[in-house]
Amino acid sequence: MTLRENVSQLMPQARQELAELVALRSVADPRQFPATECEQAARWVLDKFAEIGFADAHLEVTPDGSAAVVGSRACSDPQAPTVLLYAHYDVQPPLDDAAWRTPPFELTEVDGRWYGRGAADCKGNIIMHLAALRALGEDVAVNLKLVVEGSEEQGTGGLEEFVPGHADLLRADAIIVADTGNAAVGYPAATVSLRGMVNVVVTVEALRSEIHSGMFGGPAPDALAALVAMLATLRDAHGNTTVTGLDSTRRWEGAPYPTEQFISDAGLLDGVQLLGDGSVSDMLWARPAATILGIDCPPVLGSSAAVVPRAAARINLRIPPGTTPEEAEAALLAQLRGAAPWGVHVTIEVEAIGNPFEASTDGPAYHAMAAAAEEAYGRPMARLGQGGSIPLCTVFQQTYPGAEVILIGVEEPLALIHAPNESVAPSEIEDMALTEALFLQRYAALQR
Ligand SMILES: [Zn+2]
Repeated sequence: MTLRENVSQLMPQARQELAELVALRSVADPRQFPATECEQAARWVLDKFAEIGFADAHLEVTPDGSAAVVGSRACSDPQAPTVLLYAHYDVQPPLDDAAWRTPPFELTEVDGRWYGRGAADCKGNIIMHLAALRALGEDVAVNLKLVVEGSEEQGTGGLEEFVPGHADLLRADAIIVADTGNAAVGYPAATVSLRGMVNVVVTVEALRSEIHSGMFGGPAPDALAALVAMLATLRDAHGNTTVTGLDSTRRWEGAPYPTEQFISDAGLLDGVQLLGDGSVSDMLWARPAATILGIDCPPVLGSSAAVVPRAAARINLRIPPGTTPEEAEAALLAQLRGAAPWGVHVTIEVEAIGNPFEASTDGPAYHAMAAAAEEAYGRPMARLGQGGSIPLCTVFQQTYPGAEVILIGVEEPLALIHAPNESVAPSEIEDMALTEALFLQRYAALQR
């Protein structure tokens, strides 16, 4: 039997197992769901990988209290390279229960797709790993390691903190981060670029307290007006983000994000235009993007005829690979301070920064993955960017400087990850499992 036939025959089992895993409500927030749901999901993953040769599979408690499933499976050749397989078993909460057309924790087939929370992100990727390894059987000529974490979605960073202190446990030559997806069903892609970010809160103070806008308005310095003027410098008339010192002209070299697709995905209202001079991909993956997340000032209801003495805004600046968070932070702070009018007092608190990530695409693992995807799908593997960040990728890159980090998975755009009515295309599980199996064969062969 060919590898493709092997994977195909494993699909009924894949569906059964995905249904078991989706039924576990493994939202890593004990205020929303009992912690036992996550414990059961961890145990489920541990047992499945122990069954296929990860004899030492066990749980490691990470600094945020979540448990990661860790294991390894050596091959007979001690010189063989090591591949680390990553996924996470925790899921986003269902959010608006009423918006789900099927029960969120019951895998349900509708029009050929399988619906359920986590069906794609990331339980579908766990099933992908299992199917790939089962299809290969004993015939895997690389050393395998596994880490399936339990708190990716909460952003509490348990595994990120754990990795540097346990570097040998997860050390590998190639790291397959299975938590992204293809450009579309049937169109293979690796995610090669993730944005970093700088979050700041800027506070403006101008007066000791509120003063009547009739008696004082005019000459009195208005903190809210000052803040608005400062925030306005972050964009030009076309909507380009304009932070002096950051390059807002770069172009995206990988696969494009089709404009119509983006307009539909983002839910633009009729007649509302996209921002910026560049393409959607340029704006999303190659250039800085400032977003004002919130403003503290009197709400309309309850506001009075007073000049506002103090106002604050939280700003989120996304940055592409090639820009460090330190330089972005310095540029943003300098611009906000420089733009403050009338001598108002400005304080800026930096809340969080994150590094952008760029995968290397010239190593043996990337080439093996590209060839495997092309063999599985009959189409070349495209390079995608992602607008958000996966901080763990940077941790892997810094902890294992020589390792290749490759981001793939079953989370294509129709999967609606993090939203109600999440689903997975079974064909993506099948084709990506085949891709991963072919990758392991090719990568092993390359090293000989
Ligand atoms: Zn995920």
